[in-house]
Amino acid sequence: MTVTNIKDPNIRIKKALPKYFEILKTKAKPRFKSANLDAKIKEAYKILQSCELCERKCHINRLKGEKGWCQVQDQMKIVSIFPHLGEEFFLVPSLTIFFWSCTFSCQFCQNWTISQRVDKGEIFKEERLAKVIDSFSDTCKNVNFVGGDPTPYLPFILKTLKLVKSDIPVIWNSNFYMSEKSMELLKGIVDVYLSDFKYFSDKCAERLSLVKNYSKVVSRNHELAFKDAELVIRHLVLPNHFECCTKPILKYIAKNFKDRVVVNIMDQYRPEYNACKFKDINRTLTCGEFEKVENLTKKLNLNYIT
Ligand code: SF4
Repeated sequence: MTVTNIKDPNIRIKKALPKYFEILKTKAKPRFKSANLDAKIKEAYKILQSCELCERKCHINRLKGEKGWCQVQDQMKIVSIFPHLGEEFFLVPSLTIFFWSCTFSCQFCQNWTISQRVDKGEIFKEERLAKVIDSFSDTCKNVNFVGGDPTPYLPFILKTLKLVKSDIPVIWNSNFYMSEKSMELLKGIVDVYLSDFKYFSDKCAERLSLVKNYSKVVSRNHELAFKDAELVIRHLVLPNHFECCTKPILKYIAKNFKDRVVVNIMDQYRPEYNACKFKDINRTLTCGEFEKVENLTKKLNLNYIT
């Protein structure tokens, strides 16, 4: 029986994320507990001296105060932390940590005050963040590192996890533009990767998120994440991007991961930030557009939620 043949969504999700549910039932430990964090922290700090945590590969020395594309330097800046109830139903309440800044500049970003650095954020030391995580470990199902994007903060996140005492599962909630070096650092740390698969066309990615080489990097990282841990893939459906992005993304997922990942097809797109400057995305979705996406998702036998 394939996972999608099971009607009850709770059973389907549990089949796709068995280890995550084992941790919640205290039958298994989160993976960071048995990882060699000291070695990973050492390697991460080495990378900071010529930063290539993400595929922008700025190669600046962040430990000397230099700023690359993301502007993040040598400490954590957090805009908010709270038990999020708006994530996928099997993740909530999720202790969500919104890091300042992003490695993308999505022209329709719904969190643009965080990602595009309008909010200023607050500096956090690792000791303080670890204490906050521990204090929510009884009430939240997981700790969810997001932003903007968490990638520029990976060295400090690893240092924080070294200080966390509780057995809380780790969610890496990202645009998936991590470098291969960052993917290696994340290996054995993350329990559930929560990705945001936006485009299949590099032209669309460059125009709407100001990022190059998107499809090669992001598909590579999905394949690495799938090999390493459990995976939930989000796809925010954009108006007028069915043929170039949505359809090939869904086909790619069906071909590579079948029903062994959870796919969240999101219909809540609304034009935000600079979206009014782009004719194709300056409106919400029509019912017909979303129906077409859902029909394809069903046809491909994906293990999906909406
Ligand atoms: S994390 Fe920031 S500084 Fe480092 S490569 Fe990416 S954009 Fe550049």
